[in-house]
Amino acid sequence: MAAVAASGGLCAARCSASGAQRAGSASRIDIRSLWSRVAGSAKHVGISGSGSNGCGSGSSGRRALSVACSAAPGFGAAGASEGTGPRVCILGGGFGGLYTAVKLESLIWPRGTKPRVTLIDQSDRFVFKPLLYELLSGAASEEEVAPPFAQLLAPYPVTFVQGRVASVQPEHATQDGGSTGGGTVVLADGGSVPYDWLVVSLGAETSTFGVPGVKESALPFATFQDAQRVNERLTLLEQRVEYPEVVVVGGGYAGVELAAVVAERLRGRARIKLITSTDDILPQSPQGNRETAKRALQDKGVSILTDAQVMELRRAGAPASSSGSGGEEASSSFSSGYSSGSGSSSGGGGGEDLAKRLVYLRDREGQQEILEADIVLWSAGQAPVTKAAAADAQRQIALPFGTNARGAMQTDATLRVLRHQRVFALGDVAVSAGGREQPPLPATAQVAFQQADYVAWNLWAAINNKPLLSFSYQHLGDMMSLGTTSGAVTLPIPVPPPLSAVVQSNGPLSQLLRVAGVKLSGSYGGSSDGVTLEGPLAAAVRRAAYLYRQPTLEQQLRVAGGWAQVGF
Ligand SMILES: Cc1cc2nc3c(=O)[nH]c(=O)nc-3n(C[C@H](O)[C@H](O)[C@H](O)COP(=O)(O)OP(=O)(O)OC[C@H]3O[C@@H](n4cnc5c(N)ncnc54)[C@H](O)[C@@H]3O)c2cc1C
Repeated sequence: MAAVAASGGLCAARCSASGAQRAGSASRIDIRSLWSRVAGSAKHVGISGSGSNGCGSGSSGRRALSVACSAAPGFGAAGASEGTGPRVCILGGGFGGLYTAVKLESLIWPRGTKPRVTLIDQSDRFVFKPLLYELLSGAASEEEVAPPFAQLLAPYPVTFVQGRVASVQPEHATQDGGSTGGGTVVLADGGSVPYDWLVVSLGAETSTFGVPGVKESALPFATFQDAQRVNERLTLLEQRVEYPEVVVVGGGYAGVELAAVVAERLRGRARIKLITSTDDILPQSPQGNRETAKRALQDKGVSILTDAQVMELRRAGAPASSSGSGGEEASSSFSSGYSSGSGSSSGGGGGEDLAKRLVYLRDREGQQEILEADIVLWSAGQAPVTKAAAADAQRQIALPFGTNARGAMQTDATLRVLRHQRVFALGDVAVSAGGREQPPLPATAQVAFQQADYVAWNLWAAINNKPLLSFSYQHLGDMMSLGTTSGAVTLPIPVPPPLSAVVQSNGPLSQLLRVAGVKLSGSYGGSSDGVTLEGPLAAAVRRAAYLYRQPTLEQQLRVAGGWAQVGF
């Protein structure tokens, strides 16, 4: 998907100009030893990922949290690491939230202003989503794709709290529905975390877009748990079904990459169909990536069905009424219906569910078609958590912040939430109203981690009464995986027409570049030329970029070590 490519980004430019650097190593040693003690006691607040934390629930949960926190060195009574600086609470530990936390720690703070940072996430792991496909191909380990927060944050004085955010209650409300001060984050188990400054980066979730039967009959692929479930299902099909039929819904990057990795894994032993409602796959991507992807899918035996709208999914043999309500649902409410384990193959009662799913399609002319599938993978799109969760009574998040029609939180150009002076939002959950003429930014890791630099910097500026910076997005290119040793990468590098002409002639230079997997052709975003890399070269560039983009140096070293063992 869109690139998480190497770039100095704002921080390299600005932070080094301000002399910013990581906390000194002497203090790190102290923090490490503090952390190991915290990690022990912090099990009380769920850091171990057990799900049942010492906070309990209801009002007693709130008390239990502060007891556990004050008992744990480093947590402090306020629920954050030691010091007297302002309390910054970050909701969501993905590309936006985790990278903001790490960046805050790398800045130099005037005496007394260094914030005590608390990061809250419902999961005990950060997920590097662009590498989720590698879990299906076995090209990367779980620790490389989804390292635990406790391990990632061990070198930093950041407090991690595992819990599901249920609501935010700001203090100092203004008449226009905004706020001027801090507030409290309330967790679903009743625990609470007070803040002086808040960062919201809760991401997006797979949406069913109201298609009936999706949540019962399809598997999403957007979280670590999703990848584990898909892996289990594929393993079952490999063992039990002679020639499984696979349907992947969604012709964007996620669907195409998923179809490619599944095709590679089931090579020659499955029938795979990729369905898109548009007239081509990857409609928003550079032409070079689209062409490379089409060739790769064809080579892998994936059939592409364009202009096909999924109207409904149904378990074979089930009456239409059992296909679900059709309400818009988020990925965590997918029940998928595919149960595993030993037992009958009828699909009911916890046995292995080998029953077919029926995919009801309709084309532009209204023609209908029904496909049979042993697994339906749903990559049709995502919605901000603020919108997706609203559809599920069990998981609703009460956030007092304005959202747009897509359910995304609205910020100004500095990524500060409209009308809330001490709240910032970034990543998939937010939309910036800043760039008047700019189209909305895509929901990508590339956008989220660039915004993280700005949010960290703007927190520094706001806390120290300095002017804030407007976010400026720099597109670094588009990358995609097309299997373990294949990919496509388009870099937005303008190619001078004379060079493009030489390369497109059939001369020795063009042949050499073609063999290497380099194409200087096509239009980048419809305007200027770009450079497309394909095949093994693109796969290697993609991996190198993701290595560079790991959230911490320690994780970079871990991932590099893992890849060195299995071969880059
Ligand atoms: C399969 C896949 C492949 C992708 N590939 C690419 C790619 O190649 N390049 C690219 O640029 N982008 C890619 N993306 C998109 C990219 O991953 C997202 O845009 C990026 O993760 C957004 O960052 P974020 O911080 O906004 O959200 P996330 O990274 O999703 O983080 C949100 C965090 O919030 C937590 N959370 C959510 N709700 C709650 C709650 N109520 N309480 C507590 N915690 C909560 C979640 O557990 C999660 O850790 C891909 C996405 C997917 C699904």
